Amino acid sequence: MNLEIEETRLTSEIDALARFSDAEAPAVTRVVFTEQDRKARVWLKERCREAGLNIREDAVGNTFARWEGSKPELPAIATGSHIDSIPHAGRYDGVVGVLGGLEAIRALQSRGFQPRRSIELIIFTSEEPTRFGIGCLGSRLLSGALAPDAAAVLRDDEENTLEVVRHRAGFTGPLDRIQLQSGAYSAFVELHIEQGPILEQEKIGLGLVTSIAAPASFRVRIDGEGGHAGGRLMPGRRDALCAAAEIILAVEGAALAGGAVDTVATVGICEVHPGAINSIPSQVQLGIDLRDTDPARRDIAQGRIELVCREVAERRGVSIAMETINSDPPAQSSPEILAALTTACEKEGCRFRAMVSRAYHDSLFMSQIAPVAMLFIPCRGGVSHRPDEYSSPLEIARGVRVLARTLATLADGESQS
Ligand SMILES: [Zn+2]
Repeated sequence: MNLEIEETRLTSEIDALARFSDAEAPAVTRVVFTEQDRKARVWLKERCREAGLNIREDAVGNTFARWEGSKPELPAIATGSHIDSIPHAGRYDGVVGVLGGLEAIRALQSRGFQPRRSIELIIFTSEEPTRFGIGCLGSRLLSGALAPDAAAVLRDDEENTLEVVRHRAGFTGPLDRIQLQSGAYSAFVELHIEQGPILEQEKIGLGLVTSIAAPASFRVRIDGEGGHAGGRLMPGRRDALCAAAEIILAVEGAALAGGAVDTVATVGICEVHPGAINSIPSQVQLGIDLRDTDPARRDIAQGRIELVCREVAERRGVSIAMETINSDPPAQSSPEILAALTTACEKEGCRFRAMVSRAYHDSLFMSQIAPVAMLFIPCRGGVSHRPDEYSSPLEIARGVRVLARTLATLADGESQS
């Protein structure tokens, strides 16, 4: 089967989608359920309809565009990703998997391929945590990893609940109808930019993701005692920021202590109250991100951080509360899908390597209801979540070609040519 990927069309569609943005080009800001997100969804559904796909949307806006197979009663196979972005991001994260998935379907259609299993393109709602503070909102609900009641009360910065915001965006069905049964899909494959430097450094065109690291995140709130920076002498101070400083270094230490390269820990948020140069900090909030391919090792690192929090609280006379935002299991890719991807790479004559995804994606949650795998393409300098994020049309087309072949194998269909 010789597959024609229409690179020019795909590039112009990626550019077109990037124009639905609240930031000036080349930056893309497209936060879930904003006006730009709404317009992007309308535009994208139109492209799917042009390809003859049937569209269904669920109560949180996950969108399913289906190419009906000759055996529609069989579990479908699916591909897809997300189109929302963090503020001032680039145009490829997520989008390559959505528009690339659509192009893969169109390439198969134009070869006269007839799938036995239906093939669905899934556009997941709010992969980015920007608005509601939790990543992969749509796929968490689809897989049951997030309970509908807990989702409904999530709030954005303006204190609007998800329940209110989704209704305003036109998604009104009951949240408890979103979850899919295990076995709803026989396979899910996600094409994505690597968001790291390995493929580019090694000059390898494709990465086959064998596992996705287990992510966890925590909020730590430290309450001390404020006061005048001059009037209050050093003895007996209960400075919340000094306590936070010890914890921040302990977070780094907890990741390093296990000696495993796969353990990573980051404090990405440090909010100081009242935040005045002449005032002793009375309260600090920290946001901690902790990941590992091995969840048991991750839990040990978490235990080390908790221990330090208790010790610092006691010694400094501050109160420290640590709250878990999320703590998710890792995902292992399906050997069958990896085999199909490997064969597809070989048929296309593409060099590839196995790799671990340290960022998490909707595939992490889809793995709870379906066999999954991911396909990475290089991005320049490993840069992502920035306006200068870039993958070349050639690299994208290569990924799409391998994705299309893989979908063809998994859909178990026949080609007329
Ligand atoms: Zn992404």
